[in-house]
Amino acid sequence: MIKLHDLQFSPFIAEEEIGTAIDKIAALLNRDLADKNPLFIGVLNGAFMFVSEVLKRFNHDCEVSFVKLASYEGTETTNEIKELVGLGEEVSGRTVVILEDIVDTGNTLEVLEEILERKGCKTFSIATLFYKPEAYTKNINIDYIGIEIPNRFIVGYGLDYNGLGRNLTEVYELKSNNMTNLVLFGPPGAGKGTQAEVLKQKYDLVHISTGDVFRYNIKNETELGTLAKSYIDKGQLVPDEVTINMLNAEVDNNPNAKGFIFDGFPRTEAQADSLAKLLESKGTAVSAMVALEVDDEVLVERLLERGKTSGRPDDADEAVIRNRIKVYYDETAILKNYYQKQDKYFGVDGVGAVKEITDRLNSIIDKF
Ligand code: AMP
Repeated sequence: MIKLHDLQFSPFIAEEEIGTAIDKIAALLNRDLADKNPLFIGVLNGAFMFVSEVLKRFNHDCEVSFVKLASYEGTETTNEIKELVGLGEEVSGRTVVILEDIVDTGNTLEVLEEILERKGCKTFSIATLFYKPEAYTKNINIDYIGIEIPNRFIVGYGLDYNGLGRNLTEVYELKSNNMTNLVLFGPPGAGKGTQAEVLKQKYDLVHISTGDVFRYNIKNETELGTLAKSYIDKGQLVPDEVTINMLNAEVDNNPNAKGFIFDGFPRTEAQADSLAKLLESKGTAVSAMVALEVDDEVLVERLLERGKTSGRPDDADEAVIRNRIKVYYDETAILKNYYQKQDKYFGVDGVGAVKEITDRLNSIIDKF
């Protein structure tokens, strides 16, 4: 296991296997390009090691040059190709071979194709050390492939995570820890707390209710409690920074959790972004948002009823209850869209017996 910046990586492809893959590519290049005086174009920065190894194995006349394109930042491939160090060489009429460390979405190849065509190079071939078939979205043919890999984030052998890891002589993958992380979603009074109690037992997850943590702090008169109380009593959201720091601390307090049920968090897009970052740094992600859908008037009725015994001031006053529901629609409901875009939103009818609703949730969660 190694650590680069904030992330942990575990060994994935051994040096020997990489060597064998390069031997195979080099043998094909020797066969196909003898007497062609090919121009190898390495794509910086990642391809430098692969280029060097291919050239050491190429037994005929050849030339080498480099272009520099950057297509990603962090561990997510983005659609923007960020910079370019141009190609000085004459390429028209040459036998050109692009050498890539990895072909992921294919965005970089598409840009390279454009550049080469503009410079009058009509045909070229492509050799890549690693290839992610699940991520590839283009039609450009890849002529020589070293090793096919699943759609995971890797570092080493020229590939980096935010600058680090290029010097590693074998390839590592981002450590993922198969946690089940559920965002339990829905307006106040939808039954999130009740269902979370059942689900945490069944799936052995840690339940974090931000509302409960705030109430605990209020009861114990901590600084955080004092700060949060003024917002909670009015049915408003506690500021993001306060809530996010608290949530991060709760997660960090449970380093051995098999997963979490987040109840009442995230409630804003900033909170959702911060949760994604936090979980990514632990090699995991939100598995799903499961939402309890309940009509407003049913919510008000339920909360007033709960207020008779819950001892919560924010349940006792109908105006505060209505404000909480309004805040939910104004500030929180947009998160449905946020998770829908990632195909992670699952809505469930939140009206019925507790057991019936649990069954509906189970049928979704069992898929993860
Ligand atoms: P709950 O128990 O989830 O209904 O939360 C009770 C109150 O705690 C809310 O009305 C907010 O004032 C505050 N709260 C709980 N979670 C959050 C959050 N994620 N962001 C901001 N405020 C929160």
